[in-house]
Amino acid sequence: MYPEYIVVHTAAFSGENCDRDMIDEWHKARNWSGIGYHFVIINDKHNEKADGTVEKGRPSNKTGAHALGLNSRSLGICCIGHGDKDDFTPAQYESLYSLIQRLMTEFSIPVSKVIGHREMNVLADQNIISSRYRTSKSCPGNKIDMNFIRQQLPSISNSNEHEAAELDTQSRLAMTKAIAILQKHRQQFPNAQDELDEFIHHPEIIAMTR
Ligand SMILES: [Zn+2]
Repeated sequence: MYPEYIVVHTAAFSGENCDRDMIDEWHKARNWSGIGYHFVIINDKHNEKADGTVEKGRPSNKTGAHALGLNSRSLGICCIGHGDKDDFTPAQYESLYSLIQRLMTEFSIPVSKVIGHREMNVLADQNIISSRYRTSKSCPGNKIDMNFIRQQLPSISNSNEHEAAELDTQSRLAMTKAIAILQKHRQQFPNAQDELDEFIHHPEIIAMTR
């Protein structure tokens, strides 16, 4: 997986000692292959781990399970705590900003593609993802201001957006044909239907087949 987006989440849990391992247990209980986030940032309610500690979840090159409809093209960061009840701690913000900046640089992700989970609805409004992936969640929480978070991050221009426009006609025709074939036979791939939808709604693919 090569991520285009960074999605910020809250654990939505007010208890103590919540961390990567606890979330790993929750997600295994859902029959997932373990923790669905790529990173976890500890808060000030852990007896052994320091406030602001960054823990690794799923490897960055593996598709996560944290934002249905965007999983195959995003990294998920979960801040421990309950974003509807408490703001992230200052130490969590400090770690969040440096982690996001590192990922933005490593994967050439522009600040406009750093979103809160609830902003999946903005992507749906913009037809970047299918409207069936709208979420009713407030995640990362009502206390969390995503615009403020984005303002703390450096802006990197996204040169990738212009590349699709340069594809030649033959590539466009080939892609249109390939998608038509996949669509026609989609019933044969029940497990891949979400991935197929994500692919078809990918802005570069839309630009390519327009
Ligand atoms: Zn979330």
